[in-house]
Amino acid sequence: MQVRTWTIAALCAVSLTTRADPAFRPEPVAEDTANAVSASTPDISEGIVYICPMDPDVRSHAAGSCRRCGMTLVAGVPDPVEFHLDLGVIPSAPEPLRGAVLQFLVHDPWKDRPVPAFNVVHERLFHAFVVSEDLQFFEHGHPTLVADGEFQYPIQFPAPGMYRILSDFYPVGAAPQLLTATVFVPGVSPEPAHLTRDYDQKAGKNMRVSLATIPDQPTVGNRTQMRFTLDAAQGLEKYLGAWGHLLAASDDLIDMMHEHPLRADGGSQVEFELVFPRARTYRIWVQFQKDDIVNTLHFDVPVRTPQ
Ligand SMILES: [Zn+2]
Ligand SMILES: [Zn+2]
Ligand SMILES: [Zn+2]
Repeated sequence: MQVRTWTIAALCAVSLTTRADPAFRPEPVAEDTANAVSASTPDISEGIVYICPMDPDVRSHAAGSCRRCGMTLVAGVPDPVEFHLDLGVIPSAPEPLRGAVLQFLVHDPWKDRPVPAFNVVHERLFHAFVVSEDLQFFEHGHPTLVADGEFQYPIQFPAPGMYRILSDFYPVGAAPQLLTATVFVPGVSPEPAHLTRDYDQKAGKNMRVSLATIPDQPTVGNRTQMRFTLDAAQGLEKYLGAWGHLLAASDDLIDMMHEHPLRADGGSQVEFELVFPRARTYRIWVQFQKDDIVNTLHFDVPVRTPQ
């Protein structure tokens, strides 16, 4: 297995958003990536890729010849196409509180072959966010590449019900991918979440965090500044290459967004910017690291239709 990796610092500033199919239905191990939107290609010089005219899935950041057919690779800018992601779970009917493994199979959209190479983004090849349908369970983890195009992630589901998984990865020579999928743990589903506004200060493991939004009442389709104030100006550290990580999920789990700070300098204020796509209440998880300890906190933000 050949894995070539590049760290692209400029990616930290790239804002990635996905919106899944609004008509999705929970199904056992259903995949509904079809209508997710891939983020646009970052404007960086490393963005130029070399592609085989015969094998569009053969891509490299270096000039040369195709490893499959020997043709000279042609320089170009990656097209923002969506890769194929099949998400499975082993065993296929996982039990709560027992070990299970999420299996992510990534194929290219041209020849449907397993993708051999991924860029490192924020220190990892693959970021996965797992959220339960009652929004009580949140996990941000990093599946391991075990074979060409195959990542695995061990997990213990806390309860039956639907889980939504946001996958964030960046195949070499292509565009960053943000794809959502669903897995189902058999049994009686929990009561759905009924979220109301919760901007209260939260206490993490070693810091307190409060939230203000600008405007105070976020509206659909408009920029909202998410300003977090940490009582931990001393000792704040980057976590996975960023001053913070944010996951926003709508209360019906249709929208999932993964963002990094727009403004942060290691001080007590960390600011993200979001554009909420629908008039729902969103649960916002943020992660900040201090003294090697990651704090995970959440807030609930109702979003209204503009008047
Ligand atoms: Zn070729
Ligand atoms: Zn991550
Ligand atoms: Zn992140």
